[in-house]
Amino acid sequence: MSLSSGIPKFRVAICGAGIGGLFAGRDIHIDLYEAHDGITTAGAGISVMGRTMQIMEELGLYEEISRVSTKPPSYGPKLRKSDVPEGGFEWFQKSSSHRGQLILHFADGSTAPTDMLVGADGIRSSIRHYIDPSWTGTLVYRTVFPAEKLFKMDPNNVALKNSIFFCGKGKHIVSYPVSQGTQINITAYVSDDQKAGTHFEGRWVSDVSLEEVEKAYEDFEPGVKSLLKCSENPSRWALHVVNELPLSTCDRVALIGDASHAMTPHFGAGASQAMEDAFVLGRLLAHPLTTLDNVPAALKVYQDVRLPFAQFVARESERTGYMFDFRLPGYYDGTERSNEREEMDILKERLTGQWGWERERECGGVAQWLQAERQLQESAPEVSTYLL
Ligand SMILES: Cc1cc2nc3c(=O)[nH]c(=O)nc-3n(C[C@H](O)[C@H](O)[C@H](O)COP(=O)(O)OP(=O)(O)OC[C@H]3O[C@@H](n4cnc5c(N)ncnc54)[C@H](O)[C@@H]3O)c2cc1C
Repeated sequence: MSLSSGIPKFRVAICGAGIGGLFAGRDIHIDLYEAHDGITTAGAGISVMGRTMQIMEELGLYEEISRVSTKPPSYGPKLRKSDVPEGGFEWFQKSSSHRGQLILHFADGSTAPTDMLVGADGIRSSIRHYIDPSWTGTLVYRTVFPAEKLFKMDPNNVALKNSIFFCGKGKHIVSYPVSQGTQINITAYVSDDQKAGTHFEGRWVSDVSLEEVEKAYEDFEPGVKSLLKCSENPSRWALHVVNELPLSTCDRVALIGDASHAMTPHFGAGASQAMEDAFVLGRLLAHPLTTLDNVPAALKVYQDVRLPFAQFVARESERTGYMFDFRLPGYYDGTERSNEREEMDILKERLTGQWGWERERECGGVAQWLQAERQLQESAPEVSTYLL
């Protein structure tokens, strides 16, 4: 499928119509290529961070999106210690807070010319094809089901009205209401450190039985068991990431989103980071100072501003996942002991500090664009070198 929009200042091709690719097309004229025949959703809802909402407001998208989205409760999600069969307890509540044309060659034998290429083709990017993604050793069970189903089975279940993290040793479950509270979205993680970095045999995403999901959490508290019993069409995802790349651009080719920095979902920030890449790159490409001749200089600015930041988010996301399931070295490791609560309090302090970057407006998506624009203006001598 190829979608074209408007008359380009120069020709930009984007491969991949995921959230990153679609967002990049917001500010610039593009040829958008997508491997699938249509654009569909991947089943479950995603969370979007406040800093990315700023970008949506800047692009005039916020109102439209907020009409169909579910706002998280202002008081933030609850975290429970749940691997306690006789009943867990609430741990804490998190506050909210050279310059010939490029020719694209497609698998069906067709070709298309372009002046520059954006690889928005996800974790299995063929534009980044020489570096394989890496398995984290984590399996993720995902399901969405009607909230009514849980209400009938367990009317007082804490997951009906709250965002909840059910935490246990080596595994945790994230549950939150979506579709204006009519559905519940579950993402359940089981990690094996010994398998991290090994090759995952089989399909990355497959349908699984309810029994498999229930078995994985058989040592969790009763509320979790009724929650999981409501699962509909559960799927299992082998969680892969793209390890830190030294570059996200080369000449007139740039990678954005998962193609560049697919990360663990523990911050719920992968799509947000894809949108932030797309926003900064789109604005740079649409800038009056950017011409076909200086595209590589503009892409270097994009790389300097975005790559280290997205990689920082990826690292901290991984660390946050270790905290959710008591695997962070030097902290509470999930085993029963007399001073368990004290150790959990220390871990809680560490964990609540993990979102500090998200609240710093000076490093928000719009601020990063302004930084990129300054850098583009400062690179004017380099820009004229390209023009020579
Ligand atoms: C379990 C789980 C939970 C998550 N939860 C969240 C969350 O709550 N919040 C959040 O922000 N993020 C979340 N993420 C991450 C988020 O889904 C991704 O980071 C985001 O979708 C990446 O967007 P993208 O556009 O870069 O890539 P993708 O969404 O993978 O899109 C890539 C597109 O490129 C197409 N494509 C592939 N190859 C080609 C080709 N050769 N030519 C043309 N098209 C091609 C694909 O068909 C696809 O449409 C989660 C991820 C997982 C695994």
